[in-house]
Amino acid sequence: MSNPFVNAMAQLDKAAKIVNLDKNIHEVLKQPERVLTVSIPVKMDNGETKIFTGYRSQYNNALGPYKGGIRYHWNVSLDEVKALSFWMMVKCAVVNIPMGGGKGGIIVNPKELSVGELERLSREYIRKIWRVIGSDKDVPAPDVYTTPQIMAWMRDEFEKLLGRPDPGVITGKPLAQGGSEGRETATAMGGVCVVRELAKKKGLKPSETTVAVQGVGNVGGFMAKLLRQDGYKIVALSDSKGGVYNQDGIDPDKAETIKKNGGMLGCYCLGSVCSLEQMPTDGPCRHVSNEDLLELPVDILVPSALENQITKENVDKIKAKYIVEMANGPTTPEADEILHARGIPVVPDVLANAGGVTVSCFEWEQNLKGEHWSEADVFVKLEKIMVNAFNEVWDTAEKYNVTLRQGAFVKAIERVAGKMTK
Ligand code: GLU
Repeated sequence: MSNPFVNAMAQLDKAAKIVNLDKNIHEVLKQPERVLTVSIPVKMDNGETKIFTGYRSQYNNALGPYKGGIRYHWNVSLDEVKALSFWMMVKCAVVNIPMGGGKGGIIVNPKELSVGELERLSREYIRKIWRVIGSDKDVPAPDVYTTPQIMAWMRDEFEKLLGRPDPGVITGKPLAQGGSEGRETATAMGGVCVVRELAKKKGLKPSETTVAVQGVGNVGGFMAKLLRQDGYKIVALSDSKGGVYNQDGIDPDKAETIKKNGGMLGCYCLGSVCSLEQMPTDGPCRHVSNEDLLELPVDILVPSALENQITKENVDKIKAKYIVEMANGPTTPEADEILHARGIPVVPDVLANAGGVTVSCFEWEQNLKGEHWSEADVFVKLEKIMVNAFNEVWDTAEKYNVTLRQGAFVKAIERVAGKMTK
């Protein structure tokens, strides 16, 4: 498995070379400013105490308070959290919001915890990191398997420790707890803005454009629905258990209903919950694995799950014409180079999925000012930022004759370095 932090640093080095980055600034950007590793004791429902390990990486705050989600996943590692915090720095700079880069994570399978255990874990994590976070220091948010409810527990615990309200300490909160309208769909909405811009540049017609979405979580699920509303033909969807391909198109709402009723996505072809054996494995509508989904003959592939999905092992089998990265780090650097050589444009994660953190920034701003913006206002502001960022990245890539990813990194590194002292 390739190390995400090594990958992130390879991306930094490439961008540094292109912009001829000051050597001292480059050195500073090679590690996070601060990393916390904490042990989190949780009283489990059976009375036993279990210790979990958590991290918070604060990469760089030249542009504003550290910003980035907290991930609950069994594969969380320090290097992953560090890489993700670096990508957050880049992401915030790409969309030009006044935020730095941070990220947190806990090594845990949240699906195995009761609601009470999850609450105790989340509160205890905050007790361990509260001194280094705050609306003016570091502002966490949701990420893989963390929810608005978890953000509400965390805000509550933080404010108890602080002794006063600070709603802007965390974003992605439920609406009633100071959350922003539109935050839940923001990442997907930002992704749709990016797809629309890409379509303009490449002359793609939605009704003639097929899309495969890997991962129907918070990001991919909404993305599939919104793209379908735009007229795109969604032909494949997957979750951690596998997926479905239908050459005639998939209705993401129907797929969601099957999942809610306890069925696997492959049951979509049968129209109701079914067993693994009943799912068709060939024909125009069939069950596909997550690996198969990546290799389908589609126009746009949208990896929306986890990192390291497109690697040097499978990149030659990718048939998509465009890739829009809604997950963080789904393409390894080796695979990225091969895709470039094959002429397959990749809209990078730090641009494509930046809608989430952008609306997080709006939430923070509303909390600081005591305001509440309408969903329409939020989306108008979001669209403006995404369209602008896409075109800046596009132009930078053209100017230096590099990939869109390199264009995004160049733009970001220029902005961050511009605020740093040599
Ligand atoms: N976890 C999301 C990301 O990776 C959102 C972060 C945020 O809202 O701060 O971009």
